[in-house]
Amino acid sequence: MQTITKVAELRRAINEARSGGKRVGFVPTMGYLHDGHLALVRASQMQCDITVVSIFVNPTQFGPNEDLSVYPRDFPRDEKLCHDADVTILFAPEAQEVYPPRFHTFVDPGELAKPLCGFFRPGHFRGVATVVSKLFNMVQPDVAVFGQKDFQQCAVVRRMVIDLNLPIEIVTVPTIRETDGLAMSSRNRYLSEEERRRALAISRGLFAAVAKFQAGEREAKELLAIAKQHLETVDRLQYLELVDADTLEPAESTLHRPAALCAAAYIGSTRLIDNILLAAGYELCPDTPA
Ligand code: AMP
Repeated sequence: MQTITKVAELRRAINEARSGGKRVGFVPTMGYLHDGHLALVRASQMQCDITVVSIFVNPTQFGPNEDLSVYPRDFPRDEKLCHDADVTILFAPEAQEVYPPRFHTFVDPGELAKPLCGFFRPGHFRGVATVVSKLFNMVQPDVAVFGQKDFQQCAVVRRMVIDLNLPIEIVTVPTIRETDGLAMSSRNRYLSEEERRRALAISRGLFAAVAKFQAGEREAKELLAIAKQHLETVDRLQYLELVDADTLEPAESTLHRPAALCAAAYIGSTRLIDNILLAAGYELCPDTPA
């Protein structure tokens, strides 16, 4: 595995590795890697000859009062995990390499960035769309892999790739969970033991709604109410919404199309997000706990 910090060097390494028509897969991350990230790496390796992982805590997607300065970092551990996972190139640039002085150009992701997290984190998806398009230009992958854990991010990136004619196939990997159901996240690191236990309310709420959905319930109100019961115990529920899985607009009152049940909640001072798909045939998804 090569570890690279400069864009020029990255381009050279990828050009070399790509020779002979090799397919390049790309997994963008903010580091502090866990099994969720590694599932993305495996998905890339299934489809591609070489896999590039980036680790970059992107300042432009954090709001002024968010956790940029304390975001968990452990580069030596991440580097070893990538090495052991047979990653071809690990790209870990400094902020100045990605955002040189006088940087001014942003990608505006439009409507998909407005509801859910976008409402509570203004500018977040503008930062995401900007850094993802910059990383796409640096790596020029054939395939890029994202986690369903960040459902709205997947929607924004898919739209961006279509709207900007980027020749990149976007692959989405189902959310990887701890055995008790908690969605893996670098931010779980912030939780005390007691908070970690209480954080389970989020996935339990989502699973309870899925169970009802699988039993035939299609009324959005009912499904939301069931999830809400569990989420009552979080410290602050930022949102719990049932949205159309494609448009992210509020779901129909009686579901006929795939919908996503999305939640953001504070446990102590830690903001966690999670979501689950409600779609006929969903029970086949490996993401559903037994
Ligand atoms: P992050 O480092 O949190 O920005 O995440 C980098 C990529 O990993 C994004 O595409 C996330 O959606 C994905 N990811 C994060 N957590 C999980 C998880 N538990 N399961 C699957 N993918 C994940």
